[in-house]
Amino acid sequence: MNILVINSGSSSIKFQLIEMPSEALICSGLVERIGHTDAVLKYKTNTVAFQETSSIKTHKQGLHKIVELLLHVEKGVIKSTSDIEVVGHRVVHGGNSFSNTTEITAQVKQKIQEYATLAPLHNPGNLEGILVAEEFFPMAKQVAVFDTAFHQTIPEKANKYAIPNKFYKEKGIQLYGFHGTSHQYVSEKAIAYLGLKSSKIISIHLGNGCSMTAIRDGKSIDHSLGFTPSNGLIMGTRSGDLDHGVIYHLVNKLGYNMDEVKNLLTNESGMLGLTGHNDLRDIEAEAEKGNRNCILALTMNAYRIQKYIGAYVATLNGLDAIIFTAGIGENSSVIRKLVCTDMNFFGIDLDETKNESKSKELREINSAISKVKILVIPTNEELEIAKQAFRLVN
Ligand code: AMP
Repeated sequence: MNILVINSGSSSIKFQLIEMPSEALICSGLVERIGHTDAVLKYKTNTVAFQETSSIKTHKQGLHKIVELLLHVEKGVIKSTSDIEVVGHRVVHGGNSFSNTTEITAQVKQKIQEYATLAPLHNPGNLEGILVAEEFFPMAKQVAVFDTAFHQTIPEKANKYAIPNKFYKEKGIQLYGFHGTSHQYVSEKAIAYLGLKSSKIISIHLGNGCSMTAIRDGKSIDHSLGFTPSNGLIMGTRSGDLDHGVIYHLVNKLGYNMDEVKNLLTNESGMLGLTGHNDLRDIEAEAEKGNRNCILALTMNAYRIQKYIGAYVATLNGLDAIIFTAGIGENSSVIRKLVCTDMNFFGIDLDETKNESKSKELREINSAISKVKILVIPTNEELEIAKQAFRLVN
């Protein structure tokens, strides 16, 4: 069975065509920097490697390009759109409505639309992906895999906010958690690698969006993103943790309206607000040249991660391994080094040579004396989505 997986992020779309149950990868690709004139489309099959830089303004435009490539006479991998039997979609926010992978119906789409107010950078792109896929692949089953599902095991003491009780059950205001497919995928890999019966793991997903999860025996028990994907770590354009008093001050004293506040904290803050860049590669290059804002932003970014490690060691009452994953976690030796510096109290000790090595496989980068394993594990949300979609339709 051919499953096309579409993973729309805030400014990127990843896609993979996977044959199930063999898990054989037929093709994969990525559209990066959506919204820019120099967006990059990368595409790979067993025989073709293709890259193109062009202006891609919207997710819809990006998805059109992907479908064109899949059907392309020379580069393509399918003859007709009916060769795709299932399309698996990553959907970021499923609120309380979806704790499991589900087939997409009109009602499911309506819910995804409703939750767009809680995940404004993601759910609209996710829905766009669904609509385009329905148009191009009318014969295929459309399946949604929710980022929020893995975090359903977080206990009440951790997912409830200290606001009046009626807002919890009645209004659904609580911590939901995100990046669930990624945290689930890498933690399962780590548990298999460590061979432990009982495990205490902190998974650190650092991409355009960033989050950390405390995972005991394979289950999420606390997580740094919250009601919306804006809490916790410093992200590409999102501030992460922020005293809510800042919002009243912006509105009451500085004349911002709520839409402007939302835009400021969601699209103009984080690494972008601190440095003028949101791609970590640009920030690292500037820091290398001595740019003080960039150096400080990298330090702040790592410091926030260290604070969450401290908190989650308390949550887990111990620690067997930390995992770095996603675009930054897998590729930035700079951030990994900053995070692992002066963490020997926690038994975290980095091997700097191993940290510099590059690989697409799971690798250990801790020193021989480190009590805690430091693992770099490439995430594969697409494969996790394909597996879950396959399980559902079978
Ligand atoms: P993701 O959301 O997982 O695709 O991660 C995307 C982010 O990863 C990009 O915005 C970059 O900031 C970062 N990234 C990708 N490659 C590298 C690299 N080689 N070094 C540092 N950061 C990287």
